[in-house]
Amino acid sequence: MLDLLFHNIGIPTGKGRYHVGVKSGSIVLCEPAGVELPNAREIIEGEGNILLPGLVETHIHLDKAFLTEKSQVAAGGLAEAIAVTRALKSNYTYEDIYNRATRVLERSARFGVTTMRCQVEVDPIIGLQAMEVTLALKEKWRDTIDMQLVVFPQEGIMQQPGTAELMEESLRMGADVVGGIPYNDYSASDHITFVFDLAEKYGKPIDLHIDFSDNPSELNVLTVATETINRCYQGRVAAGHVTSLGSVMRENALEYAERLAKADLQIMCLPATDLYLGGRQDIQAARRGLTPVKLLHEAGVNVTMGTNNMRNAFTPFGTGDPLDIALLLANTAQFGTVLELEQIMQMATSHAARALGLTQYGLAVGAKADLVMVQAERVEDIIIDRPPRLGVWKNGVKKAEMFVETRRF
Ligand SMILES: [Zn+2]
Repeated sequence: MLDLLFHNIGIPTGKGRYHVGVKSGSIVLCEPAGVELPNAREIIEGEGNILLPGLVETHIHLDKAFLTEKSQVAAGGLAEAIAVTRALKSNYTYEDIYNRATRVLERSARFGVTTMRCQVEVDPIIGLQAMEVTLALKEKWRDTIDMQLVVFPQEGIMQQPGTAELMEESLRMGADVVGGIPYNDYSASDHITFVFDLAEKYGKPIDLHIDFSDNPSELNVLTVATETINRCYQGRVAAGHVTSLGSVMRENALEYAERLAKADLQIMCLPATDLYLGGRQDIQAARRGLTPVKLLHEAGVNVTMGTNNMRNAFTPFGTGDPLDIALLLANTAQFGTVLELEQIMQMATSHAARALGLTQYGLAVGAKADLVMVQAERVEDIIIDRPPRLGVWKNGVKKAEMFVETRRF
């Protein structure tokens, strides 16, 4: 007897209607719908809708969400965004971070996010406060969203004495991933070495903010690719932004992409932030400031996407819906055919899961029953319409239903 059966439902990777069965929190049946109806305690009629694996938010900053409610948005570029946010950070309280982060989590859950990687700031200004908050939230939300916490030294490591010790303490407290930001320190290469050393010491994966500029000679990601191979860290290193690669001549970019693929780097495009802050020095014909998503994808690099920031100086926009980011990326990276929109869907789901090292993910027997049912009949419409989420399940347990955004429908 199944706990739950989705009857005659669409799936993103198959034609026609399927039966998807859940038992004890896992998918135990996923096959084309036949005439025989398996026994189940609860049956949900597909009614022309599509069942997706739970959405994966690969990169988000809970601790600095909704800061536009506290301060005016910076009109300038990246350096100003960092400065404006640093000024606000000294006034954070535990309760303040907790409340702003909770607002993001509540939105994400209703949009169908079942796994999230959070960048948590650690430095002498904020100390371990944001880490303490997000560790508490990780425990509180464990039955709804799996949270991976990245120790993120936003202000640099070497240029902010005390940060290295705080990063190590965060890992002892339970953080999951070692973060880094080579572009905001005295020496990018020393910064990268430190991050790899720390990750190796604690056996953790790595997630870097890197090469966030329009300067084609800023390519620290190549150093990271070499280091990844030298330390046998293939598949365990993520690189966010990597926008400078978008300004590199195509033939060189192709060669670099092959090096990233060989190291199995996980490239995370963060389009909302990259488009907002990129190309600021271009007086005319401004560049989009994105990493070359199509080129990387075609070279075999695992490319995914993330929200990054919501409503702060880095990105004054954002609803928390990963499908908004998917549409933004499809539009600006020029993925418009049916096949390309299906690729964008994969980047938001299976590619994202791979980037975060998730096992038992997807619509397949043996996978965890993290599911979201969307009101759409075709995969391309999921990206274009960002339709209502009719239900969200975590480990086979229903978490949200019929979240209809009135602003859209
Ligand atoms: Zn970020």
